[in-house]
Amino acid sequence: MPLSHLRPRGEAARLDVLRKLNLLDTPPSEAFDRITRMAAQLFGLPIAAVSLTDSNRQWFKSRVGVEHDSIPRMKAPCGQVADERALLVIEDLQLDACYHDGVLAASGVRFYAGAPLVTHDGWCLGAMCVLGPSPRTITDAERVALKDLAAMVMEQIELQHALGRVDAVSGLPNRTQFLDDFKDLTMDCPRGEHRLAALVNLASPEQLGNAMRAMGAAYLDEIVGEAVRMLDATIGKTSTVYHIGATEFAFIAPVGIELDAFYADLGDWLRQRAQSVTSRFVTTATVGIVPFQIGPTACADLLRNLHSAARHAFEMDRNVSVFSWEQDAVYRRRFWLINEFGAALENSGQLRLVYQPKVDLDSGACIGAEALLRWTHPTFGDVSPAEFIPIVEQTSMVRATTRWVVETALRQLAAWWEAGIELQVAVNVSAVNLLEPDFCERIVDGLRRHGLPAASLALEITESALMKNPRLAEATLQALDAAGVRLAIDDFGTGYSSLAYLQSLPAQVVKIDQSFVRGIERDERKRSLVAAMIKLSHDLGHRVVAEGVETADVVDVLKQADCDEAQGYLYARPLAPQAFVQWVEKRAAVAA
Ligand code: C2E
Ligand code: MG
Ligand code: MG
Repeated sequence: MPLSHLRPRGEAARLDVLRKLNLLDTPPSEAFDRITRMAAQLFGLPIAAVSLTDSNRQWFKSRVGVEHDSIPRMKAPCGQVADERALLVIEDLQLDACYHDGVLAASGVRFYAGAPLVTHDGWCLGAMCVLGPSPRTITDAERVALKDLAAMVMEQIELQHALGRVDAVSGLPNRTQFLDDFKDLTMDCPRGEHRLAALVNLASPEQLGNAMRAMGAAYLDEIVGEAVRMLDATIGKTSTVYHIGATEFAFIAPVGIELDAFYADLGDWLRQRAQSVTSRFVTTATVGIVPFQIGPTACADLLRNLHSAARHAFEMDRNVSVFSWEQDAVYRRRFWLINEFGAALENSGQLRLVYQPKVDLDSGACIGAEALLRWTHPTFGDVSPAEFIPIVEQTSMVRATTRWVVETALRQLAAWWEAGIELQVAVNVSAVNLLEPDFCERIVDGLRRHGLPAASLALEITESALMKNPRLAEATLQALDAAGVRLAIDDFGTGYSSLAYLQSLPAQVVKIDQSFVRGIERDERKRSLVAAMIKLSHDLGHRVVAEGVETADVVDVLKQADCDEAQGYLYARPLAPQAFVQWVEKRAAVAA
């Protein structure tokens, strides 16, 4: 009967432990060879080995006197040691009922003694063994010595293993250990059991960066050390705390803890910590809590959700935040957008500009267009600029985006001018673009390359964005104005308008936001507000455009209020270049 049938239960788990130790098929190491040499010498025998029992082979991590690095597990005495977890001595293999016809006997081995290699939690990995060509007995002292040697091998194995699993600064088990322990938890606990996990983050990445820059890495060690002492004295009493990132600690609440109590406890913990730690003025610690179920939850997902919740707490200026799928979906969508938009920028087939006419309210003639960006994702279809622009504006991609938009608009404009359609095109620009040192230079260069007069281009900048950094942006705006490029303040009325600032801006045009325009014919207050905005803008020397004009009634009100231009669905939706030209031609024909 093959030996495998006699193997103890839990063999799969034993093999799992052995594989996780990452010893199998690793190169020889002096730390083990030293012990093996000592064993051979101590017994006065030519062969000694640290022999690990894999599923179907004995693999030698260290060996003296043997050439091959493994033998079949079947009929190998070391396999029996692993199965029985006990010292095994075979004084003469040739007389042994089980092993007389095995590989070892066939190669001339007569004597075998092997002590089990047992981990601290009781798994036997194989044997520390000595072998000889003649029959032999073993003394009690030799038995003790062989067991001691096996213990030394195990210490070496566990030491090596711990090296990759314990954080050097905190001494706490690390992320790798968390992954392993989570797997065990999944196997040991009832499937479907509801549990709670938490992640404590001592500082945001920005705070960490600032602290490291000003104080050096030792400061980080100090923050971590302080937190570890506090965690040890509190949470560490009931849960294993893992050090999973530079300033991040994770743990799983004991069974039976309710979310509300857990939330309150962690909030208290943070408050208590905030009163005592030295870094309280430069760091904000946050906690993310994730309720999860044993079984369906993958560890990688749990960790991601923990990070997401802790980050959300930080962004919301809260101490503790409980993970929510809705919130997560928002972040995931953001991340997805940033990634995919980056790809779209490189492969401009996904991006295009559409043009919405601007109409002079006196003459009814089309005097220009606003270029609006459109993004069609290859699988998910159209994504609205109202969604992706604000996200892109927070990344460095905003530079490449505006560059693409300006270049595409100028190319189109040049083609129209060449065809005798001498319109003005307005392009939307993000406020951060104005902080680029070469922004004006590039615009002027673009106009020159395409042979266009500066006044054929207008740049629309939202008011609220401008207000955030007025002085820095002002230099760029002055330069653009000096170069003859027209400037418009977009979405006027939605920001925190500073009238003094409006007066000093070199803009020629003010675009009143759609929210003031829509429904104006029915709303007395809106009418007064828009009339006042128009008057004020005129007094300051600006032309006024009304956005979002959808009905003829609105046009009447705007005309009465002396508005200069209008833009909106009443005239046309944003159109593809060819459709725009057809629209312009049709309108000219009607006017004539
Ligand atoms: P915006 O610059 O204020 O552009 C006007 C928005 O109102 C456009 O939306 C336009 O399609 C829409 N609109 C025009 N007339 C009407 C109307 O009568 N009724 C209604 N309900 N809406 C009307 P869109 O194209 O979705 O763009 C949204 C915003 O995204 C823009 O607001 C602008 O801030 C930004 N954006 C669009 N393209 C670009 C771009 O190329 N660069 C930058 N930086 N931002 C852009
Ligand atoms: Mg605009
Ligand atoms: Mg607008």
